[in-house]
Amino acid sequence: MKLIDCAVCGEKTLGLRAGPGRTILHRNTMVPVPGDFALPECSNCGSRPIPWKLAKQLAPHLDEAWAVLMRARVSADIEALGQVRPLYEWERLLNLSAGYLSKLKGEKTPSAPLVALLRLLANQTDRAQELEALWAGGPTVTHSEARIILSAVQAPVRKPAPVLSVSFRDSVRVAA
Ligand SMILES: [Zn+2]
Repeated sequence: MKLIDCAVCGEKTLGLRAGPGRTILHRNTMVPVPGDFALPECSNCGSRPIPWKLAKQLAPHLDEAWAVLMRARVSADIEALGQVRPLYEWERLLNLSAGYLSKLKGEKTPSAPLVALLRLLANQTDRAQELEALWAGGPTVTHSEARIILSAVQAPVRKPAPVLSVSFRDSVRVAA
């Protein structure tokens, strides 16, 4: 294997490496890198400086791995929700079209926010009652809603925090 100097740690330990078990941050979660896809990786510090051309080639593989992960996660949670009440009731509570959750158990890929919401509900199914109360409407504002409304009215405009550094390891989000 040809090794060159690593720009992060300075050691001559940066080389093209392939193999199973590698993961990379993609969108909001760690996804597996295809075992036969070689990436520059430093064996000393673990950094992965990925050039633009390679990142473009890798992006569709990561998109697919991400979709597989999301479908697997949501599938287990929908199964759990379905044990508590019919899926059409969950669809109504979440304002999803009829049959949407059933489709997610198949080939359709869910959005990350929906995956997150379904995970929270699957872990605490009695929170469906809060959603029922929420959509039932009425003039009542809960204590926490009132606090949020008040803080939004009173909050000073904040400047965004400056970005201080980006590590190579975590810099692989690629626009398709
Ligand atoms: Zn290094």
